[in-house]
Amino acid sequence: MTVPAQIDPADDSGQSFYEKHKKIYPQSVHGTFRRIKWIVLIVTLGIYYFTPFIRWDRGPGAPDQAVLIDLPARRFYFFFIEIWPQEIYYLTGLLILAALVLFLMNAVAGRVWCGYLCPQTVWTDLFLLIERWTEGDRRERMHNDAGKLTPQLAARKTLKHFLWLMTAWWTGGAWVLYFSDAPTLVHDLATLQAPFIAYLWIGILTFTTYALAGHMREQVCLYMCPWPRIQAALTDEYALNVTYRLDRGEPRMSAKKATAALARGEPAGDCVDCHQCVAVCPTGVDIREGPNLGCIQCGLCIDACDTVMERLDRPTRLIAYDTDINIGERLAGKSTMARIVRPRTLLYSALILIVGAVMAWSLSARSISSVNVIHDRNPEYVVLSDGGIRNAYTVRILNKRTTPRTFAISVDGLTDPVVEVTAANPADGEQIVPVGADQTREVRVIVSVPEPPADASVPVTFVVTDTADGETATVTDNFRGPGDGT
Ligand code: SF4
Ligand code: SF4
Repeated sequence: MTVPAQIDPADDSGQSFYEKHKKIYPQSVHGTFRRIKWIVLIVTLGIYYFTPFIRWDRGPGAPDQAVLIDLPARRFYFFFIEIWPQEIYYLTGLLILAALVLFLMNAVAGRVWCGYLCPQTVWTDLFLLIERWTEGDRRERMHNDAGKLTPQLAARKTLKHFLWLMTAWWTGGAWVLYFSDAPTLVHDLATLQAPFIAYLWIGILTFTTYALAGHMREQVCLYMCPWPRIQAALTDEYALNVTYRLDRGEPRMSAKKATAALARGEPAGDCVDCHQCVAVCPTGVDIREGPNLGCIQCGLCIDACDTVMERLDRPTRLIAYDTDINIGERLAGKSTMARIVRPRTLLYSALILIVGAVMAWSLSARSISSVNVIHDRNPEYVVLSDGGIRNAYTVRILNKRTTPRTFAISVDGLTDPVVEVTAANPADGEQIVPVGADQTREVRVIVSVPEPPADASVPVTFVVTDTADGETATVTDNFRGPGDGT
């Protein structure tokens, strides 16, 4: 029997590639960036929770929820915009726009998305708030986890997990509200009349939120999320990142030792090595060691260090948003600068404007009717007894209005064509097709010509015209024949 080769988990010096997970106990902190994070949390969660309840009148028969992903009807509604499955390219445009905005944010201020706006960060902050409220701040939690599980501690932990689950459940509940009429779904969920799939998704989202924001926290940022790696490849030395100003902080030593060193005429930095910046970090990073993939640029270490500096009556912003280039400039004794406007940020801004303008233009110019056509493959054409040629097509007409409409079908590009529409009202053989409000209609269209075209394939244009207002939609296909003109 062959024994599979084992992968050595240690390097040449015997150092293991793996490190045991160390639980992180982020300490609470107060300051400018913490306040900004609370405001962003309240605004983003507010938007997320209450958007499904905003109403938008689209006329009779159409859903009145402003933002709705209507899977059964295969529509996406966003206020005045209604996206059909055939227009999925708008989603591609939105994704490109979102990626460009992320690149621009990265060029200006590194992982600022991660530190303030990422759902994982927002929910983790919320879960940490619950944890501190039920189990106390960093020292108390570390002390409790190191000791015995008393009944009182067990009760506090149980309360924490219950509140985490409630928060996660409310999250799941809010997400399913985007897929159905929100007030109706809330009523049906409360009276146990909602479809099983709604309960199933709430269960799945409750579990994933509870696991990711409650238990995995920084591990999502450190190991699961690809953005830190992509971001590291996209950034440059002019991007603002949370930076320890080592030219000012080193050599680090306690305030008492610093006073003695200065009295002896020796250098002493402003960092008093209190580890407050590490204690508040949600990913356990020591920013004094330099740029770190684990740093989500949340700025909490700036707040922690500013508090220490204020207490010591020293200038704040020993840790600050700063650029790599400025560190070098300061070490060389030169003046520093912030260059937010530079080719990279201008390029991203221009691309955002171009993509946004193209999307806005295509949305404003989009037709409220549309037509698709598929040529019959077998047979491609039929030679009639009188020598004429007949082709058959399946034509789908889209009526994007919220009122019923009738369309006339005609064909351009052939000499003396005869167009017959089957399975249409008011009667087979006529060219008038009624299509219900916000619906599609598929019909068979037979096109005949008395004389075979000279070419085996002739381009033809199908034109559907609204009989009421004359609006047209066109699509091009081919009319096929023997190709010998006989
Ligand atoms: S909080 Fe400031 S003073 Fe304290 S260790 Fe961090 S950088 Fe040094
Ligand atoms: S090092 Fe500072 S900015 Fe980076 S994640 Fe930790 S606390 Fe946030």
